[in-house]
Amino acid sequence: MSTEGDFGGRVIYTGVEKCPVCGRDTLHVTETLYEDPAFGQLILYSQQCSSCGFRRVDIQYLESRGPSRLVYTVEDSEDVYRTYIFRSRTATIRSPELGIEISPGPEAEAMITTLEGLLLRMLDVAEQMEVLNEDDENTINKLREFKNKVSMALRGNLKFTIIIEDPYGNSAIKPPGGREDRLRIETLSTE
Ligand SMILES: [Zn+2]
Repeated sequence: MSTEGDFGGRVIYTGVEKCPVCGRDTLHVTETLYEDPAFGQLILYSQQCSSCGFRRVDIQYLESRGPSRLVYTVEDSEDVYRTYIFRSRTATIRSPELGIEISPGPEAEAMITTLEGLLLRMLDVAEQMEVLNEDDENTINKLREFKNKVSMALRGNLKFTIIIEDPYGNSAIKPPGGREDRLRIETLSTE
């Protein structure tokens, strides 16, 4: 979990509760409220146990319109540096042009980050995979191609789409000021 940039939150609750894993009263709970006139309100729930290390982070978007698909086309570096991504544990993030897909799962964590932060994280993952697959030329070539694309995207030299699908509607994309109308919000069918 990381938060970057100037989209600062306000802590509205802190407490120590019983840990669901080890049962000790050492679970530190923090709730942070993020709000913005154009974007609405969102709460970040963070739990961390100082005894067993259990950790969970999730977010709830209070202005949710229900199950939704959010689509934003990134056109320049302003979009990369100033678009915020709020991804709940249940959401999938995709970018067809970059070949990115981050799926929800038991280990999934919520994230609040700029697009830049997301892309830098993708580069890290690709670098770790390069080390793990150093004998596999085919994989290495694909990873290098991926890293080149992501690097171009980071510099604002590659137009790409970012898609977040959240069956609970707890995720959000906040475009740079003045570009809010470029965000497409579609209702996700729940079948
Ligand atoms: Zn614990």
